[in-house]
Amino acid sequence: MSYRHVKIPESGQKITVSDNRLNVPDNPILGFVEGDGIGPDITRAAMRVWNAAVEKAYGGNRKVHWAELYLGEKAAGIYEGDYFPAETLDAIRDLIVAIKGPLTTPIGGGFRSLNVSLRQELDLYACVRPVEYFDGVPSPMKRPEEVNAIIFRENTEDVYCGIEYQSGTPENQKLAKFLREEMGVDFFQDAGLGIKPISPFGSKRLVRKAIQYAIDNGRKSVTLVHKGNIMKFTEGAFRNWGYELAREEFGDVTITEDELWEKYDGKPPEGKIVINDRIADIMFQLMQLRPAEFEVLATMNLNGDYLSDAMAAEVGGMGIAPGANMADHVAVFEATHGTAPKYANLDKVNPSSLMFSGSMMFDYIGWREVSELISQAFAKTIAAGIVTYDFARQMEGATEVSTSGFADALIERL
Ligand code: NAP
Repeated sequence: MSYRHVKIPESGQKITVSDNRLNVPDNPILGFVEGDGIGPDITRAAMRVWNAAVEKAYGGNRKVHWAELYLGEKAAGIYEGDYFPAETLDAIRDLIVAIKGPLTTPIGGGFRSLNVSLRQELDLYACVRPVEYFDGVPSPMKRPEEVNAIIFRENTEDVYCGIEYQSGTPENQKLAKFLREEMGVDFFQDAGLGIKPISPFGSKRLVRKAIQYAIDNGRKSVTLVHKGNIMKFTEGAFRNWGYELAREEFGDVTITEDELWEKYDGKPPEGKIVINDRIADIMFQLMQLRPAEFEVLATMNLNGDYLSDAMAAEVGGMGIAPGANMADHVAVFEATHGTAPKYANLDKVNPSSLMFSGSMMFDYIGWREVSELISQAFAKTIAAGIVTYDFARQMEGATEVSTSGFADALIERL
């Protein structure tokens, strides 16, 4: 494939897919998008850490060959005002794995969020957010070390589809008339109307990914989080389709919570993953009171949006929370925070969210030694009290360093 502005490094090889698995060479080409605002600062710092950790882990036998791709303001400068160039999407499909910094959503009529567009164009249907505690990170929890979960949030359906009709418009009036006259339902006059599509296809592929993750990573339970007591045919259906999928496709390795009590007296048998479900509102309480009970959570778009940020806060907040948006194979890893424009180019913010998203990326391509080294060095850096401003303001006696200074301190401890 030839590109106008993207340069694919000739020294590297592309990742490919066969038999439903990634084939990762020792010199893979990975895409990266620097991002806007604080993006360049955190990308520079994180990339130094990733390259140093790869070198430390494999001593030159493995090396990443980075291909810069463009989205957001940098893209607009290169592609004559286009914030979302088609060739960037082609390159991500071609390279399969990429990582990105945060992107500005330009303010102005009808401009869709670039992140939402990226998820939709590449059908990145699962937003995956691990929530794990590192010793010494400031946390509002009494026992934050009990939090160790991963959230699979459905990315393509739910009220995020944008099927909404503004109060007073002809479209709204047409739909309201149909609902009142043909469906026999009623609601207040001039109500804005929105539609919440939840499908068996969308629900099942998300739950499939969550269960497969639990199998691959030795997790013991998958919890379906929903508000099915109120929204029976959307959120309730998600729950039912989740159980159905577990039974039909993973029946040999899963049991339901009911079976756990009926057949096993509440003690999970070796080698089985327990599938259970919780109502969304109680889930927020349980994640604070009994977080150790939850390992993998699968939920729809809106619940997942709330839950990911709330759980990130338990272990240090957005400056450290990593994430990924995934299709069956194509995966785009990303910092979960925004562009924090007031800190752009100040070399000030915490690079850990992007850095740990990179750790997830290395796990995804099977280079686990890299993410383990980064986690160990991060723990040592925090234990030494070396942190960026966001943690320094919550810790006593910490040494505040810059973005690049934090990367230096971490690399020294690899
Ligand atoms: P934001 O950029 O996430 O920043 C909000 C606050 O979070 C910052 O002021 C800062 O808090 C803290 N923060 C964010 N990143 C941090 C880091 N790396 N280290 C330490 N602290 C960090 O959210 P926003 O101001 O609402 O949004 C700004 C722009 O980002 C918007 O254009 C929005 O559309 C975009 N956005 C993009 C993404 C994405 O690309 N995935 C996600 C969300 C928002 P303090 O001020 O307390 O220091």
